[in-house]
Amino acid sequence: ATEIHLASRPHGVPTLANFSTVDTELPDPGPGEMLVRNLVMSVDPYMRGRMSDRKSYTAPYEVGKVMDGGAIGEVLVANTERFKPGDVVLHSRGWRSHAVLPAAQAAKLDPDAAPLTTYLGVLGMPGLTAYAGLLRIAEFRPGDVVFVSGAAGAVGSVVGQLARLKGAKRVIGSAGSAAKVRHLLDNLGFDAAFNYKDGPVAEQLAAAAPDGIDVYFDNVGGEHLEAAIGAANLHGRIAICGLISQYSATEPPPGPRNMFQVLAQRLTIRGFLVGDHSDLREQFVAEVAPLVKSGKLRYEETIVEGLANAPQAFLDLLAGRNTGKMLVRL
Ligand code: NDP
Repeated sequence: ATEIHLASRPHGVPTLANFSTVDTELPDPGPGEMLVRNLVMSVDPYMRGRMSDRKSYTAPYEVGKVMDGGAIGEVLVANTERFKPGDVVLHSRGWRSHAVLPAAQAAKLDPDAAPLTTYLGVLGMPGLTAYAGLLRIAEFRPGDVVFVSGAAGAVGSVVGQLARLKGAKRVIGSAGSAAKVRHLLDNLGFDAAFNYKDGPVAEQLAAAAPDGIDVYFDNVGGEHLEAAIGAANLHGRIAICGLISQYSATEPPPGPRNMFQVLAQRLTIRGFLVGDHSDLREQFVAEVAPLVKSGKLRYEETIVEGLANAPQAFLDLLAGRNTGKMLVRL
């Protein structure tokens, strides 16, 4: 098997030197285990956090060991009743060509129900993140003005479209290129969108949301969060989903300087992790899968070919070279 290992911990923005490609011998699967050949794997922003040795909600990757993450594979050998060779499963042993894992740590997928890749994207973890964050954490209500950052990404694109489909008064997105801004406006039905690299976020947001915002779904942190606090209406709600602008920071980033607005406007700012909201999964799939199938909710995927290119795909994700979900096909 071929595995991608964490070769060293990055200081600041990761580079290819932080990864190594290693050929290994896999053990035979034991009782209750199976051998899986990976077909597609996910690269996700949270993996940047796991490359560092700091206290977080998941354990850091170990230097010199294989990394892991969401993946879809085909069962080759199954020492279990639950699966048979040829089954396609979702599991968490990505970053490798083949994996031996307990059958209990895999879930069977129906390749005919939806394109396989969607189980890692719009109908998978990122989609559920958008659903739980918008509806449960930000307590979205029809008539809200919603602002989402990272709007052309896997999570953000679902947030914006869900808000529109559920009756938002106005949906505003920010992203990091003119092409992404066009995509939000032309393909995803956003009412307004801007490139955060074009000028101060607070100014661009004020222009896009003249009547303020009721919900901010934060994928980015930093300047975006401060701008959203400044634009929030009375009883506004802010869901802290991610702070990707700070994941590779080498110094403590500055805090929002306008915390008085949180008091004055009685804002709610609430962080969340998708893993705590798996009770919503069934409801999420029942509601969103038909929207995807009918084309009412669109999704993009940026697919990189080959396990050897997975480290570069991850670096490209952090640099914003993806539209929609970033995946690696093996
Ligand atoms: P995306 O598909 O959105 O990809 C990441 C995007 O981040 C890039 O495409 C890039 O887009 C943007 N980005 C990178 N650097 C910056 C920066 N300095 N400022 C602004 N934007 C930047 O990834 P996901 O949809 O998978 O994740 C989005 C966010 O959600 C992340 O913060 C992630 O950590 C978080 N998350 C949280 C979960 C939870 O349980 N709380 C679960 C899943 C994801 P651009 O070109 O626009 O800059």
